[in-house]
Amino acid sequence: MEAGKRSAQVWFLTGSQGLYGDDTLRQVAEQSQEIAGRLGAADGLPVEIVWRPVLTSPEEIVRVCLAANTEPDVVGVIAWMHTFSPAKMWIAGLDALRKPLLHLHTQANVELPWAEIDMDFMNLNQAAHGDREFGYVQTRLGVARKTVAGHVSDPRVVGRIAGWARAAIGHSELRSLKLARFGDNMRNVAVTEGDKVEAQVRFGVSVNTYGVNELVEAVDAVPDTDVKVLVDEYEQRYRVDAALRAGGDRHDSLRYAARIELGLRGFLTDGGFRAFTTNFEDLGGLRQLPGLAVQRLMADGYGFGGEGDWKTAVLVRTLKAMSTGLAGGTSFMEDYTYDLTPGQERILGAHMLEVCPSIAADTPSCEIHPLSIGGREDPVRLVFDAAPGRAVVLGMVDLGERFRLVANEIEVVPPAQPLPKLPVARAVWRPEPDLPTSAEAWLTAGGPHHTVLSQAVGVDELHDLAEMTGTELAVIDADTTTRRFAAELRWSQAYHRLARGF
Ligand code: MN
Repeated sequence: MEAGKRSAQVWFLTGSQGLYGDDTLRQVAEQSQEIAGRLGAADGLPVEIVWRPVLTSPEEIVRVCLAANTEPDVVGVIAWMHTFSPAKMWIAGLDALRKPLLHLHTQANVELPWAEIDMDFMNLNQAAHGDREFGYVQTRLGVARKTVAGHVSDPRVVGRIAGWARAAIGHSELRSLKLARFGDNMRNVAVTEGDKVEAQVRFGVSVNTYGVNELVEAVDAVPDTDVKVLVDEYEQRYRVDAALRAGGDRHDSLRYAARIELGLRGFLTDGGFRAFTTNFEDLGGLRQLPGLAVQRLMADGYGFGGEGDWKTAVLVRTLKAMSTGLAGGTSFMEDYTYDLTPGQERILGAHMLEVCPSIAADTPSCEIHPLSIGGREDPVRLVFDAAPGRAVVLGMVDLGERFRLVANEIEVVPPAQPLPKLPVARAVWRPEPDLPTSAEAWLTAGGPHHTVLSQAVGVDELHDLAEMTGTELAVIDADTTTRRFAAELRWSQAYHRLARGF
């Protein structure tokens, strides 16, 4: 089960005009249907491309933009000015459009048929200046959009559109996301706090707190027969410690972990929540801190943040929605401790329990160990190493006046040695460009210790998502230097303060 999975559409709009007659408009319609069809059939596109009839008047344009706004499955709109489409016709429509926009600057043909070109060909295939007219009016109106130039037969063009479409899916997910918090933030922690009203204004996400004992009631009400079925699944799916298996002396703890999962899953399903937080300081009548349950719900697509961290839970869910169908997992993560061996500096990331098995290299083992904080019974958890490879970590902070996203490109690497005494799932990574530069930049940006780690989503998609939501994104990558990063942050801070208006 993928939490909240649904079909996503992008509407393909074609701009033209009536100047050259019906025959030209018929060819425009045929060619734009062909381009939309090729794009829709391309590998790796995560959305359905829906071709819409050619637009030649301001009335048609505003109508289709308003329709796109209200159609829930439409996550974004692609626009191409096949022939010249005088752009004053687009002002009202672009002003009304509330969905993400991609300006595709393309044309029907790849090569020019040099020997055949006449003025009919020139007038039909004039996106080279028709799209400039459209670019001008978008810039004049300050319309946020992504511009992609090239032919749809080019995999790089399709790849850039696909990345934008994934960001549009994330944007759409944010607009309808409901998050349940069990308890408030961990006491005295600053970075996990934030303005939930501003989050709803900016992103659309609705964040609300529930008394943890409402969850406890749901957990206690789970029938024993359901618990038995789920425990059997655990024993099939993971390498379960002998003590936890049926007949083992800790089996009751595994049964209670299954009971938490079923109660929590039911609570989230009934309330339409696709993300949640817990807090080890506020467990009410829960006998264990939810570990295994949180890990398995994340693997099913739910967003999660520990210690009441709803901002990171929102990001986990959003990136999971964006990466649907891609290889590689996405997890809640925390920067924990460093290997500062010169030249091989690495970060060891983990959490008390709650790392998503979607990022695991191998079959997780299901274990029980004491938890040194929280004062409850020993919690059951899945233990594993994260799969090596390229990934990104992304965090969000509330600067008081607005949110900032901070991303770092990383390389997950195998642990230098086995970690036989570490009883939690973990990831070891080498951040770009190196640990000292990455850490200095991250701290300069005020980035959080909780992040989402994704092996599936890249910085390009995150950039598109930041544009769609009007949110600052500070990126730390192979080209980052501490001094230039600090300067960019200053410019970006000034821009975002101005862009916000008064
Ligand atoms: Mn934490």
